[in-house]
Amino acid sequence: MSSIMKSNPSHPNSQASNEISSEMHQISRLSVIDLGIRALQEAGSEHICKVCIANGGSCCNGCRHLVNGLGCQLRNTSCTAWLCGFLKYLLYETGQLQEWNYFWEQVPGQDYREDFTPEVFFVENSLPTYSFGELSEALAADLDELARAHIAIGFIIMLREKIDKNIDRLDTCRHDVKKQARIKRNIKVLSSPFRRFRLALREYQLNGPSSS
Ligand code: SF4
Ligand code: SF4
Repeated sequence: MSSIMKSNPSHPNSQASNEISSEMHQISRLSVIDLGIRALQEAGSEHICKVCIANGGSCCNGCRHLVNGLGCQLRNTSCTAWLCGFLKYLLYETGQLQEWNYFWEQVPGQDYREDFTPEVFFVENSLPTYSFGELSEALAADLDELARAHIAIGFIIMLREKIDKNIDRLDTCRHDVKKQARIKRNIKVLSSPFRRFRLALREYQLNGPSSS
């Protein structure tokens, strides 16, 4: 993936580098969208989306820009920056959520399902590249299994919303250690059925992304 960030070879798990450039870069609205979409593709988001959509959880449901058989007709910075609970969880567990947020905070004009982002603007922080394919696959397999095991329709979608809320709450109590610990425990409990994901995450944390 073309990245506007240099990788950090001293960090074994840092395919997604944490080195932040201090220079301002000019960037276009379209290339920001492109970067975001490609970053999520490289994070393996399609594996998770496939299970989510099959269970009625598409985040594009009811959007007037969605055309049957053609997909989204209004690529915008807002929808690209937005992460659902599952994708947020993936970046949270791999330690990349903050970097993602820092990057998108620099992108002006984001709105609901559309944007007013200028065609060209400046950014300082760069968007990391990801190699989470195997983690996403593992999470998707866990979600698929969970969805089949629970007869209640929308079980994994409810789980997605709960995880989402808890991760967002972490941000609102940054300086409250006790609250943070409580929320992290909640996230752990909510994600306890993600057996394959946990194994893949341990492997990733020990050895970095697989070269395959
Ligand atoms: S809600 Fe998340 S997992 Fe579901 S389709 Fe949208 S981005 Fe994919
Ligand atoms: S504008 Fe956003 S919500 Fe609507 S179809 Fe496109 S990506 Fe989906």
